[in-house]
Amino acid sequence: MAIRVTVWNENRHEKTDERVRKVYPDGIHGALASILQSQGMEVKTATLDEPEHGLTDAVLENTDVLVWWGHLAHHEVSDAVVEKVYQRVLDGMGLIVLHSAHFSKVFRKLMGTSCDLKWREIGEKERLWVVEPGHPIVEGIGEYIELPQTEMYGERFDIPAPDTLVFISWFAGGEVFRSGCCYNRGRGKVFYFRPGHETFPIFYNKDIQRVITNAVRWAAPVEGPVPKFGQHPEPLEKIDK
Ligand code: ZN
Repeated sequence: MAIRVTVWNENRHEKTDERVRKVYPDGIHGALASILQSQGMEVKTATLDEPEHGLTDAVLENTDVLVWWGHLAHHEVSDAVVEKVYQRVLDGMGLIVLHSAHFSKVFRKLMGTSCDLKWREIGEKERLWVVEPGHPIVEGIGEYIELPQTEMYGERFDIPAPDTLVFISWFAGGEVFRSGCCYNRGRGKVFYFRPGHETFPIFYNKDIQRVITNAVRWAAPVEGPVPKFGQHPEPLEKIDK
């Protein structure tokens, strides 16, 4: 069965900034959706200005993996929608958090930290080093990915230590950054991936596309057990009282 993906984008830069429209004429969500569609996934898009931000109960119920891009308008995302997305992740939905979505309400809620970082936008080179070469997210990737022009994100990145750290970035200006971070939350999986600034054509890079595709496959739900919590008065084994 095809993985059902919903690509969520706040879609604000695309409406107001000609430079961003030039790079992503169909929006960042359109570019990401076409990558994943070309890999045989069943892809929908949703954006901030739609009712319920396009994330109705029916959409979330039918989403295996949610991809999230936001930057300008994290505060406009309603707490009710954030709570529903959060619960779906705990129930097993995968979540791929891209670039400036480090500050999205849902990622911060899942992490429990500020998720703050340092940044600089002068178009410097980035090299993303693979530090976990056996991980499914780096299938088909070389020792590193090189991006000629990016926005820099630098440590300290205020996140909890990842369950698995897959990429560390080096920047020409000297900073480093944990740029590919895997987490388990409840029955769900979360992957934070750093690249993807709105004015650089990074989502057209074949290696970046490959990582995002691999990440969606990795984060897709599995038919694992549903944990039962709370009081459990009947023991499995007979116990002499
Ligand atoms: Zn950016």
